[in-house]
Amino acid sequence: MDKVVIALDAGHGMNTAGKRCLKKLDPNQTREWWLNDRIMDKVEGILEAKYDCIVVRVDDTTGVEDVSLASRVKAANGAVAVVYISMHHNAGLNGKKGGGTVVFYYSSAKERQAQAQALYDTIIAHTGLVGNRSSKVVKKGYYVIKNTKMPAFLVENGFMDSVDDVPVILSESHAQKTAEAVIEFLEKEFHVKKKAGVETAAPKQPAAAPKTRAYTVRKGDSLWRIATYELGSGSRYKEIMELSGITSTSIRVGQVLTIPAT
Ligand SMILES: [Zn+2]
Repeated sequence: MDKVVIALDAGHGMNTAGKRCLKKLDPNQTREWWLNDRIMDKVEGILEAKYDCIVVRVDDTTGVEDVSLASRVKAANGAVAVVYISMHHNAGLNGKKGGGTVVFYYSSAKERQAQAQALYDTIIAHTGLVGNRSSKVVKKGYYVIKNTKMPAFLVENGFMDSVDDVPVILSESHAQKTAEAVIEFLEKEFHVKKKAGVETAAPKQPAAAPKTRAYTVRKGDSLWRIATYELGSGSRYKEIMELSGITSTSIRVGQVLTIPAT
């Protein structure tokens, strides 16, 4: 049997006007594409390592270009993907409290609403970012979910201008949890299968809590930024330098650093 194709879409591009975190909540004004891409990179990595499928990224994974919505749809339709997941982060609260996760779908096909609900429920089970939206699973004609031929879902994974959501969505752990939820959804609803030989069981013994963990440098990172978002204080960048055994503050994309676990 041919491998199934999964289409992943990180919304926008790095430099898309306006698509960024509210400055007073995030002085770095982290770009929406960067947040979307961080999650999709993780989903892609897990799928490619452990699952029997082909991943098609319909955005520009360098972030340089904001690929047109028509091109994204064309790429997914052309690849005959079995499912299309578009990752976004929301805005509209202007620094207020509240926010949370919303999943959009468009098709009136019977099972689509149930699948959208399953995707929402799975994400919430992992991230807990419920927020205060009155509608959390919504039928709406967004271009990419309206014009793709396969089941398609658009996730707004928290608000970039909510005082509650911003610290959460900036964290690496939120991105990781969201990615794991997307994988679980794909496995359950679209029967994406593990590669032969990949274990499903958890490790037999719970390991002692690690004191350090690996962090892979991403586009736009600096030591200060990593310390701010991963450790809660920019000034802790010195601990990262010490643990990683580096003496220069210049870091490069893809470099693996050792950072404190907490
Ligand atoms: Zn967006």
